[in-house]
Amino acid sequence: MTLRTPFAAGVVWIGLATACGDGPAPLSAPSGYSLRGRLEDPAEITYRLDFENAPLDHGSIEELFARACAEWSAVAPVGFRPAAEGDGAGVTVSFERATHGRCRPFGIDTAVAHTGPIGAQTYIHIDHGRAWKRDGLREGQFIPLYQTFLHELGHVLGLGHSPDPAALMSTNPQTERVERSDRDGVRTLYGGGRPGPNDYRVRPDDPEGAVLYGLRVEGTTEGGFFDTDGDGTDELLLWRMDAPGFGQLVAFFFDRRGRPLRTTGPRFGFVDGTAEISFAVTDEKERFLILTYPNGHRIGYVFDGQGAPSSFTGELPAPNRTSHRRLEGDLDGDDRDESVLH
Ligand SMILES: [Zn+2]
Ligand SMILES: [Zn+2]
Repeated sequence: MTLRTPFAAGVVWIGLATACGDGPAPLSAPSGYSLRGRLEDPAEITYRLDFENAPLDHGSIEELFARACAEWSAVAPVGFRPAAEGDGAGVTVSFERATHGRCRPFGIDTAVAHTGPIGAQTYIHIDHGRAWKRDGLREGQFIPLYQTFLHELGHVLGLGHSPDPAALMSTNPQTERVERSDRDGVRTLYGGGRPGPNDYRVRPDDPEGAVLYGLRVEGTTEGGFFDTDGDGTDELLLWRMDAPGFGQLVAFFFDRRGRPLRTTGPRFGFVDGTAEISFAVTDEKERFLILTYPNGHRIGYVFDGQGAPSSFTGELPAPNRTSHRRLEGDLDGDDRDESVLH
C-alpha cells in the first residue's frame, strides 16, 4: 500500500538511526522519521467523521478511528475527541473518490488515503473506490481501514514518511502498530519520553530543551549546524556514516522557541563515510555541502531557498564552515548559540 499526503512529497528528507533496547544497537537499514510540522495544541485535537459513502458500518468506523487515536495517545501527550455538535473540527474524516475538491485525485496512483496540510484544521480523505476491510494487514486488494487511520493520524500529528521499513509511517507499512521510529518521531515533536543514549539533546542543561529521539548511534551518526535555507537561523544536520545508512542526510528546522518544527529529508546518497564533510557560504550567499575525500577529490551540493540540496557540477568554493567538531549553532534565531549534547 502506498499511503501519501499530497503535501509531503519533496518536503521530507530525514532519517537516521533507530536503536533497540536501552543501548545503541547496530543499524542495518535506513531508519528514523521525518517531521512536516507541529500542532500547537496536540492534547486537544477534535475530529468529525463524515459517513457519506462509508465502506463499513458507522459503528465500526467510529470504533476503528477511536482505537487509532488511542494508540497514538498511548505513546505521546496527544489527545483526540469528537467535535461537539455545531463546532468546527480539527480533523474532518471523509470518504472520497476520484477527483474531489482541490486534492490530488484518487485512482491515478497507488494512494488509498491522504491527509491535508498540518494545522488547526485539516482533513483525512479515504478512497471509497477501494475494497476495505476492518483491520489486520493488507491482503490482496483488501485494505485495512484501521491501519490507514493510524497512518493518516501520524500525518495529522506532523509526521512525514519514514525510511524505516518497519515503521507505520513507511510508505508501505507492514504493521498496524505505532512502531519505534514512529514513537520517536511523535515524542520529538511533543515529548513523552525520557532522553537516553540514542538521543540528541538540544540545550542539554535546560529541562525544556528539545530532544531528538532515537537518532544517534555511536560511530554511525554525525551531525553539524548549517543554515541550509539562508534565512539566518541554523538547522541541525545529521547523517549516517555507515554503508547500511545509504548516505542518509536529514536537516531539522526549529521554531523560534527552539522546538523541532520540521525536517527536510531523509535523502539518500548525500554523504559518504570515507569523506570529510564541511560547508561553505559564498559572498553571493550560495550555500554548499562539500565532501572531501582522502585523495583530495571534492564533490558538492548546493542548497536552494528551502534548504533542499542538489548536485553541483561547477567550481566548488573552499569550505569555510566546519561540520561536526562542535555542535553549536543558533537554531531559534535569538542570535545566541544553542548547544547539542551528542
Ligand atoms: Zn502517508
Ligand atoms: Zn482529498
